[in-house]
Amino acid sequence: MHELSIVLSIVDTAEAQAQKYEATGVERIDLEIGTLAGIEPDALAFAWEAALPGTILAGAERHIHYIQARARCLDCSHEFDVQQLYEACPQCGEYFTELLQGQELKIKSITLTTAEEAIS
Ligand SMILES: [Zn+2]
Repeated sequence: MHELSIVLSIVDTAEAQAQKYEATGVERIDLEIGTLAGIEPDALAFAWEAALPGTILAGAERHIHYIQARARCLDCSHEFDVQQLYEACPQCGEYFTELLQGQELKIKSITLTTAEEAIS
């Protein structure tokens, strides 16, 4: 299940960030996932629950922002939302299209928890 390796790499990134800023934990993490990124939301949630205990992300709020996949027809330049790869252009029926967005899988932001003491 590739969702698990995705979650583990997110954990790695979060831990590296926390270490860099000497944070004690992560309060919230925002992810951006394209609708064609090949991520099953249920599998991701399951992998999340399984992989997180004991990591810096345990207890972090997870927010997922889905990015609707869009493509542009290389023939007539029409731009349209796509539900799957290699969809024909709804305007001219050509299959020569270019995907503009929708395969993203990235961390949009990480909100770190730092120690209570004010840094002077
Ligand atoms: Zn077209």
